[in-house]
This record gives sequence, C-alpha cells and structure tokens, in this order.
Amino acid sequence: MKVLCVLYPDPIDGYPPRYARDSIPVIERYPNGQTLPTPSAVDFTPGELLGSVSGELGLRKYLEDAGHTLIVTSDKEGPDSEFERELPDADIVISQPFWPAYLTPDRLAKAKNLKIAITAGIGSDHVDLATAIDRGITVAEVTYSNSIGVAEHTVMMVLSLVRDYLPQYKIVLDGGWNIADAVKRSYDLEGMDVGVFAAGRIGRAVLERLKPFGVRLHYTDRFRLAPEVEAELGATFYDNIQDLVKNVDVLTVHAPLTDETKGLLNDELLGTMRRGSYIVNPARGAIADRDAIVRALESGQLAGYAGDVWFPQPAPADHPWRTMPHHGMTPHTSGTSLPSQARYAAGTREILEAFLGGEPIRPEYLIVDGGSYAGTGAHSYASK
Ligand code: NAD
Repeated sequence: MKVLCVLYPDPIDGYPPRYARDSIPVIERYPNGQTLPTPSAVDFTPGELLGSVSGELGLRKYLEDAGHTLIVTSDKEGPDSEFERELPDADIVISQPFWPAYLTPDRLAKAKNLKIAITAGIGSDHVDLATAIDRGITVAEVTYSNSIGVAEHTVMMVLSLVRDYLPQYKIVLDGGWNIADAVKRSYDLEGMDVGVFAAGRIGRAVLERLKPFGVRLHYTDRFRLAPEVEAELGATFYDNIQDLVKNVDVLTVHAPLTDETKGLLNDELLGTMRRGSYIVNPARGAIADRDAIVRALESGQLAGYAGDVWFPQPAPADHPWRTMPHHGMTPHTSGTSLPSQARYAAGTREILEAFLGGEPIRPEYLIVDGGSYAGTGAHSYASK
C-alpha cells in the first residue's frame, strides 16, 4: 500500500534538535482509564521530535519492512504540491492538525484509492467528513493523545492573559522596568467566573485544573457531565453557549469544528459578554469569526484572546491575529509537545497495524467508518 504522510518542516537549524531533557515521564493510563496506544512495537525513543519530516512519526522501518511505500512531505498546498501529486494513488493519508493536509471534496475526488485518513493527533475537521462518509473512507484519530497537553496550554494562557504576562516579558526583553506599564492591565484569576465551552476530554481537564485557583466554574456541552462530577467541580451547567458567555469573565473553547460550531464566536455573541472578557481557544480557529475577534480586542470588549489555532494553517504572514492587540497566539503547538508526539506516533502505528492487519480499530479512535460517524465521531461530531 502507498502511505502518504504530511508533516511539518524540520527545525530551521537542523534535525535532530539538541533535546532539553533526557527522558519524558511514563504515563500509565489516561484519566478516564483508557489505555495508551498499544502498537506491537515502536521504532523511536519517546521524547524525540517525531512530528517533523525527518521524524516520520517513527513509521518508515515498520512500513517498509512490511512491503509498503511511505512518502513523507511537508509540501501540501496547491495543485503542484508533492501532496497533490502523490494523492491520486495513495491508499492511506496521515496528517497532523498542526500542519493539516486539507482533504477537501476536490482533493478527495482525486484520491481514488484512498481508504483511510489518519489524524496523528486529535481533530479531523481538515478532512471533509461528509465526503468521507459518502465514499466509505475511514477517518481515525488518536483520541486522548494530546488532550492533557492542550488543557495545560489552556491553563497557561488563561493565567497569561488575565495577569497580562506577555507584555511584561517584552518589557524585560526590551531592557525596560516600567512597573506601571507592566501592571495597568494585570488582574488576578482568583474570584473570576470561568466558562468552558464543551467539556469533553480537554474541557473537563481544564475544569479540573482551574478549580484550585478559587474561580467559579461554568460550562456547556451537548452532553451534561455526571451529577457527581459536576458537584465535585462545583460547576454550573448551561444549555447553550449563549447563556454561558453572559455569565463569565474567561471563556475557554474545546468543541470540535463542525457545521454547528463554525463561526460561533461572532460579533453578536462577543457583544453579549462582560466588557473585558478573555477567550482562550485551542480548539479550532474557524470556531471564531476572524475579524470579529480583532474588532472586539480593538474596542476593549475583549481584554485578551489566545488562540493556538488558525484558519488556514499555516497562517499567512499578514493574518490579522498576528498583530491584533492583547493576543497570546501560538502557531498551533499546544497538542504537539514531545510527549504528545510520542503518544500520537504510537497511536498512528496502532491504527495502521489494525487497518493493515484487517483488525478492527479501537472505537474511541474512529471518527468516520463504514459510511457513517462512528465511535468518538458519533459522540463528538455527528449532529445531535
Ligand atoms: P472530545 O471528543 O473528548 O470532546 C469534544 C466535546 O465537544 C464533546 O464533549 C462533545 O459533546 C462536545 N461538543 C461537540 N459539539 C458541540 C456543540 N455544538 N455544542 C456543545 N458541545 C459540543 O475531544 P477533545 O479531546 O476534548 O478535543 C476537542 C477538540 O479540541 C478537538 O475536536 C480538536 O478540534 C481540538 N484539539 C486541539 C488540539 C491542539 O493542538 N490545539 C489538540 C487536540 C484537540
């Protein structure tokens, strides 16, 4: 089989990098008891950079020993890209959300042999799921592989925005010491109302991690948490995001990108929030209306926005989120720390071993299968 794998480019100063640490912690299980990936073996040392082209997700030896062809490229945009040139006879496409190989209906029409699109990570909206359903293409992702990392990033950005950390760091870099400038927008998180939009794996981990900060927690999801979980968190449930956002100072966003969530953070919704609210959105860029976010930051309706995710990716050099005021944007890094890479590389191999061996893929990894949403896809992506 021909496996076409799209990964982000190597570090500009070469591969492999000099690693900052010698090992990564061993995690036994995910918080809900789900086991970590269980491939028969891996051909990499956890902690290595696997998500860039030379890292190859550690898959080359395994695939080539089994007689398959592996093509790895970062060249993914436009009809002359290596990705589009190699797509027509590819059986398997692997891509990471950080550097997504967009599988649009047009591209899927050209991919006559495609049987499975694997997301090395979480979030498969870069694949046109309706077309995958029509064509019987399987879409699978490595559920939970980086959820905790994204929750950690979310907490980091909530604190960073509320305390106004980034401008303070800049003052230091610039050789300054003006404390008044550094603190004139600096607040404490303690006592604030924090709202979580979608309490799945990431959203729930964010609620749990923010609870000790002495905040009041609020959330909405299509599925309510169990009463004992809600009670333990002391979290107030809302039926919809409209009611949620009116009651919070900080909103964090953790829903998948679907027809229902696309463009949700628009002028109208932002206008109902408390003046000076903060938003942290490590879910998907297109859940926010790009220009509405800029307007809200410029007017002061929002006091800060930290995004991590953009549309498209990579974002063009002139994307307005690079230069809007009071932002804490990152280039989609929250889910691709070195430990996350080790988990989703192993999970990608687990999915490949199952698929190539004719065995079932774990339901929790499935988004689309057999012509309909399946597994996690049926829970998190399908219209309710
Ligand atoms: P999950 O499937 O565990 O949780 C998603 C939750 O969203 C579910 O509880 C679902 O019920 C809820 N939901 C779906 N549609 C909704 C709607 N219209 N209204 C309210 N709730 C809705 O997934 P997760 O692991 O928590 O990840 C969530 C999303 O975060 C992913 O789909 C992905 O887009 C994004 N993500 C980003 C990164 C990153 O690196 N920045 C990494 C992992 C995931």
